[in-house]
Amino acid sequence: MSAGRDDTAIAGRVERLRSALAEAGVDVLLVDDEIDLRYLTGFTGSSGMALVRADADGPLHFLTDFRYTAQSEAEVGEVFARQTVSGELYEALGGLLGPGPGRLGFDEAKLTVRGHSRLEGAAGEGWELIRCKGLFESLRSVKEPAEIALIAAACRLADEALRETLEEGLLRRTERQVAFELETRMRRMGAEAPSFPSIVAFGEHGALPHAQPRDVEIPPDVLVTIDWGAVLDGYCSDCTRTYATGEAISDRAREVYALVLAAQEASLAAVRSGPNGREVDAVARDIIAAAGEGANFGHGLGHGVGMEVHEAPRLSRTAGDERLVEGNIVTVEPGVYLPGMLGVRIEDLVVVRSDGPEVLTTGLGKTLTVTA
Ligand code: ZN
Ligand code: ZN
Repeated sequence: MSAGRDDTAIAGRVERLRSALAEAGVDVLLVDDEIDLRYLTGFTGSSGMALVRADADGPLHFLTDFRYTAQSEAEVGEVFARQTVSGELYEALGGLLGPGPGRLGFDEAKLTVRGHSRLEGAAGEGWELIRCKGLFESLRSVKEPAEIALIAAACRLADEALRETLEEGLLRRTERQVAFELETRMRRMGAEAPSFPSIVAFGEHGALPHAQPRDVEIPPDVLVTIDWGAVLDGYCSDCTRTYATGEAISDRAREVYALVLAAQEASLAAVRSGPNGREVDAVARDIIAAAGEGANFGHGLGHGVGMEVHEAPRLSRTAGDERLVEGNIVTVEPGVYLPGMLGVRIEDLVVVRSDGPEVLTTGLGKTLTVTA
């Protein structure tokens, strides 16, 4: 991590994980998902594994292979006993675990079927394998101040990259050219990668929420939806704006834009610690439904963003009962899509605070703007 190893943050994450393990009745947890491992230990390589004992004085093991010895020495937090394994990482697990008996947890959403059978073989009969669900998802959903600062920096970089791209205009450039230039700018400005393949979609193509940029030139007097983000120091940003390429867009386009903006601003204002994801989603959905466009808003209102661009919590009709809490970072992105005609989506990335939202994507306005 170019921000440098933060042993205090790592120790705090281990402590919070341990209390979740105690609650789940697990003695030891295997962590082998790349992103969870990076979050927990600081390791950015692709071959590593950690074993976390639930009791506070229990050992913390980090395993990697010879390719990553030097990297793990530099990156992995000092609370972990680092070890380079000559063969398969799974083969070393048995020795570290001992004969048991005990309850060995793994994340059921992350471990493959193959990983599960190797784990069974490595652990031996003394260990009962326990499926754990959403342990890291819930830890990672509450961001530390340093994480919020990284995501805010990713947002500023992405905003600036789009602003520069728009200065060169949208007209008569293809969707792919605009997407390519935007992504190139983000890379040049220091981003590790785009958070996801950028979306640039005009006219009826904008009615596809996950449209792929085409080799088609952007004409005058259409709406263009741009959804993009940057990864910076391992953290993602996510934002969407919709622009007009001329004053002569249809009245229908203006009407839909005004509706989406009203729904976006009202639901954004409802973001705070307290409500659950269904309740915030309903604020936007009710406004769009009251205007008769309910059937044209087919996706959820938003999602958490962090080391991954889609993570917990969700703002949607199917979200669970968990309430938003201070430090969650979520998108607020209603859209209205008229098949064969046009689409509008407006998205901001915000930190949940006790008294309301703290918007991170402040670099670009939301009133309908003509960008020729
Ligand atoms: Zn987005
Ligand atoms: Zn999004």
